[in-house]
Amino acid sequence: MRIAIIGAGPAGLMAADTLAPHAEVDLYEHGKHPGRKFLVAGQGGFNLTNSAEGRDLLEHYDPPGFLDEALTAFGPNELRTWLAELGIATFIGTSGRVFPVKGIKPIDVLERIRQRLLQQGVRLHTEHAFTGFDEQGRVCMENRQGPFTLDADHVIFALGGASWPITGSTGIWPPLFKAIGVEVLPFQSSNCGVEVHWPAAFIGAHEGKPLKNVRITAGDRSTWGEATITRHGLEGNAIYPVVPALREGATELRIDLKPDSTVERLAERIGAKAPRNFAEAVGLNRAQLALVKAFTPKETFGTPMLFAERIKDLHLPVTGLRPLGEAISSVGGIPVGELNADFSLKQHPHLYAIGEMVDWDAPTGGFLLQGCFAMGRWAAHGILAEYGTHVEP
Ligand SMILES: Cc1cc2nc3c(=O)[nH]c(=O)nc-3n(C[C@H](O)[C@H](O)[C@H](O)COP(=O)(O)OP(=O)(O)OC[C@H]3O[C@@H](n4cnc5c(N)ncnc54)[C@H](O)[C@@H]3O)c2cc1C
Repeated sequence: MRIAIIGAGPAGLMAADTLAPHAEVDLYEHGKHPGRKFLVAGQGGFNLTNSAEGRDLLEHYDPPGFLDEALTAFGPNELRTWLAELGIATFIGTSGRVFPVKGIKPIDVLERIRQRLLQQGVRLHTEHAFTGFDEQGRVCMENRQGPFTLDADHVIFALGGASWPITGSTGIWPPLFKAIGVEVLPFQSSNCGVEVHWPAAFIGAHEGKPLKNVRITAGDRSTWGEATITRHGLEGNAIYPVVPALREGATELRIDLKPDSTVERLAERIGAKAPRNFAEAVGLNRAQLALVKAFTPKETFGTPMLFAERIKDLHLPVTGLRPLGEAISSVGGIPVGELNADFSLKQHPHLYAIGEMVDWDAPTGGFLLQGCFAMGRWAAHGILAEYGTHVEP
């Protein structure tokens, strides 16, 4: 059995690792190195997965049900065991996010995966680009020597989405799949910052400051955490989870700057104080007060109850989402309806699509990498099962 995998990100690497003991595997990557986005993911907090389990895990993925089988077969525990086999010990942080232990860098994780693939006989071909399909439906590639077609029983595509194109996930492949009759949805930013027109005086004084412990709501999505004031708007873990609602048409954020208190309690704390002391009475810092002022009619500032109501429900008009180049992930790509349960294409069952090139969504916190790894594993299982080989997760 000959398998070609195109795209050496987490999804493609996992598919290669699962198939390698049972098949001839060629892994193609158009960049000079595998896993560049994986390395970028490690520059901030490197969440390899999340400790959520069962329903709690599955509920983080959209559309509901699409990844249930893959994640149930290869969830966070299985991923952590797999990492441990590679010598990558992990720990669960306070937020449930799973990190490699201190001293292990993203490049170490990637290098151990790469070494294991090579030991298992995977042929890694860098600077080999997928360029389309020929008239017979064969997969066309190009390297420094020129164009060629692939000779493989199954081809797994793991080309990534369209965020951070500098890492190689350029998102320029949709026309190639459309040419063979596969629907592809436009890419949109996910897990990204939002744009707000700040008054010049406000942003001049408060750019870079955090809004800690806030509840943020957009449409039917609500979350709690921290948002950073940026030149363009707001960014951070309290923003990303509400982005789907903004993509679906919501036009404002509603911010609760004091989620642990009620309007009545805040008004009580303000009591009979003079308006210039309202902010101090309820513990608003300078950035928070400036934010309230920037988006509140002046008369609100003299009335304790109105002021308290604003603190609990500040309406912020959103003018857009930050572009794909800055987003942590993207949605769009191949719609799930184009895929069979094993992630093969309904119209071309010897071709598979896995990872972020498929139109699913999940929040940050390790859920994205977990989803990609699980898809790689599941597609590989499907192929092996076809040949009568069963592999435990
Ligand atoms: C700044 C940042 C931080 C992140 N942090 C986290 C985190 O902490 N936790 C988390 O879970 N997720 C995180 N992510 C998201 C995570 O990195 C991605 O979801 C994941 O890398 C997607 O994996 P993938 O295999 O689908 O695609 P990718 O990792 O994008 O890999 C796709 C590969 O395909 C190659 N390719 C593309 N086109 C071609 C072609 N035509 N021919 C050959 N090869 C091609 C690309 O070069 C690339 O190597 C982060 C992302 C970013 C940008």
